Amino acid sequence: MNFDGFFAQELTRLQEEGNYRDFAELERHRGAFPAATCHNGPGEVTIWCSNDYLGMGQHPDVLNAMHAAIDRTGAGAGGTRNISGTTHDHVLLERELADLHGKEAALLFTSGYVSNWAALGTLASRIPDCVVLSDALNHASMIEGIRHSRAQKVIWKHNDLADLEAKLAALPAGQPKLIAFESVYSMDGDIAPIREICDLADRYGAMTYLDEVHAVGLYGPRGGGIAEREGLMDRVTVIEGTLGKAFGVVGGYIAASEKLCDFVRSFASGFIFTTALPPSVAAGAAASIRHLKVSASERQIHRERVAQVRARLDEIGLPHIDNPGHIIPVMVGDPVKCKFISDTLLREHGIYIQPINYPTVPKGTERLRITPSPVHCDADVDRLIDALEDLWTQCQLARRPMAAQ
Ligand code: PMP
Repeated sequence: MNFDGFFAQELTRLQEEGNYRDFAELERHRGAFPAATCHNGPGEVTIWCSNDYLGMGQHPDVLNAMHAAIDRTGAGAGGTRNISGTTHDHVLLERELADLHGKEAALLFTSGYVSNWAALGTLASRIPDCVVLSDALNHASMIEGIRHSRAQKVIWKHNDLADLEAKLAALPAGQPKLIAFESVYSMDGDIAPIREICDLADRYGAMTYLDEVHAVGLYGPRGGGIAEREGLMDRVTVIEGTLGKAFGVVGGYIAASEKLCDFVRSFASGFIFTTALPPSVAAGAAASIRHLKVSASERQIHRERVAQVRARLDEIGLPHIDNPGHIIPVMVGDPVKCKFISDTLLREHGIYIQPINYPTVPKGTERLRITPSPVHCDADVDRLIDALEDLWTQCQLARRPMAAQ
């Protein structure tokens, strides 16, 4: 049997809906981020949509640590964590992560996606009668983990404390409860009221699972995330993060009590049955974390750059969600125009911003998700703003200040 005809038909449907994804084939240049060569596009481009938020993927400390680890230990880990793949570099990184979040232990996974899927899925399926209270805008990796667990799931309205409380109150007092949510939401860039959620968790005897993927490295005096910034790390049961965004490498983790990590280590198939990250990756991530624990300058310059881009967008009246974080969603509200703007930015201006369309965001809220970094310069910002202004006029898009969300 051959399903190529079916696959082609489904792909054509996606194309017609404007939701088919094209990938820019990039080659980042060592030490020159945000510059890159786009091999299937115009050549030299400036990247404005990377999640290497601080440019740490090009930081000399990280690169040197990775080179040194390859020289010391070779390429791969050589096995799953259980069968010969637990290297000294993995263990050191887990200690670094536990320390970053003020927790007894941490556990590494091959990505942030896998860490959510495996940890949340294991907790929800193995804690008897556990119910997961999941924020409506949680990331796909959490949704899939909860779904896979087959545990009872209750969805509460995004960042809505009254709705969360009503849903907690409606559950039997003695039933185990796990509240799953994010700190910085990736598409709107808004931030959860972590303290109030922890207060509700205490009142109703619930555990908390906090995804800090878009916050680790970026917030808090040592880059421990929003929970660190707000002094709440000890009130959150599980903090989950990635090594692939602000830390600039790849991998995911949870940080929690020693017993909880040991439990997930022992039962999560997404941890047990897969080859461990290369030791060089672990060494690079550890170097990145160590650097950002003591250096606040990347975070400081990052905040200034984000504020500058927001102010310049306001000057030309482009609608963007005015959130308190570092992600700037510029709202287009039309999938075809969104893709047109993105394509033209790339082709004519050498500016790369991937369009964000349905199903990643709801229909009618298509957007350009801009992520400034400390390594963008004033000239990059000037070019971005001039190009966006031209394209806004060309597409006859409305200019208005967006209400704060
Ligand atoms: N959680 C959230 C909120 C995310 O946005 C993402 C990735 N975009 C992940 C988890 C997965 O992290 P990773 O990219 O490390 O797999």
